[in-house]
Amino acid sequence: MTARIRPDLATIPAYVPGRNHPGAVKLASNETTFGPLPTASKAIAEAAEQSHRYPDNQITELRAALAEFLAVEPANVAVGCGSVALCQELVQITCDGPADEVLFAWRSFEAYPIVTQVGNATAVTVPLTEGHAHDLDAMAAAVTDRTKLIFVCNPNNPTGTARTRQELEAFLDRVPAHILVVLDEAYYEYVRLTAETRPDGVELGRTRPNVVVLRTFSKAYGLAGLRVGYAVGDPEVITALMKVHIPFSVSRVAQAAAIASLEAREELLDRTAHVVAERARVREALLAAGYEVPPSEANFVWLPLREHSAAFAAASAEAGVLVRPFAGDGVRVTIGDPHENDLFLAFATGAGRVAAGLA
Ligand SMILES: *Cc1c(COP(=O)(O)O)cnc(C)c1O
Repeated sequence: MTARIRPDLATIPAYVPGRNHPGAVKLASNETTFGPLPTASKAIAEAAEQSHRYPDNQITELRAALAEFLAVEPANVAVGCGSVALCQELVQITCDGPADEVLFAWRSFEAYPIVTQVGNATAVTVPLTEGHAHDLDAMAAAVTDRTKLIFVCNPNNPTGTARTRQELEAFLDRVPAHILVVLDEAYYEYVRLTAETRPDGVELGRTRPNVVVLRTFSKAYGLAGLRVGYAVGDPEVITALMKVHIPFSVSRVAQAAAIASLEAREELLDRTAHVVAERARVREALLAAGYEVPPSEANFVWLPLREHSAAFAAASAEAGVLVRPFAGDGVRVTIGDPHENDLFLAFATGAGRVAAGLA
């Protein structure tokens, strides 16, 4: 007889690894194409030498560096094994049973429904607008006295759309102050908009203790393989997060690499300018080929291909470019370097139009 496992976990799909396409260009995971900077590689190698010692469980040095960078106190900063771990920990600190609701838009980041269910809470989803953006009015209207946590992914993964500072402020003004609102800003560094409209969760959180911001070293900072993300919020929220933190889950190597990457941020953030320029070029070419492409403020674009999504992604893989399908809904394409984007565009403006139902 096998051991008894929580029956509800049967409804969470087991992880299915992507098919291996040797030599294919990978535009499926919103990673950066560049490896770590030399200073980060050096910090990684040095930290690895100390692998027989446990890492600092308080993550003191990195939290201090982040606090200085963001002009907050270290008590306002928690660090997690990727910001996805912090998503799970945020459910753990706010919800204690199925009567508690976690509210988020759909479609949005795939981890939200999973961490909600793993946390034994109930997910409440609000459809995106016709324009594939958060429907913040409908989300505010969906708040109940059972709502414990709200995720707002801005820019939204996988659609790339962003709400402005003013739109977020109006939403936050409508949410009762006892409900924790998570502004997930994994793609913050790719947002342009204007100085006036650009959303910055850390600024919004300064006067709102029920706002917590998530950012990560996995995307613009290029450390996806090392697993380090952070939360910025009220010290009471941060203290609670540290209570449920899996001990030592942010490795010594990850902490060292994050500190070195933060120090080299000018160089890293320069790279985002290239991605932003390519994002515009790719979107223009796709629009010209007849695709619907919502404006993106992230390092990917969204093709709402609906019933054609799976076939389009399969044909793209055959053509040597891996993209991320969400069956029945759309396809997310990461912006890579110009040569990678050209390969994708050659497919998408040629054979891809047939797979997409455009020709
Ligand atoms: C990629 C991503 C994250 C987190 O990534 P980590 O690698 O776990 O830090 C969080 N939120 C969104 C919306 C993302 O797309």
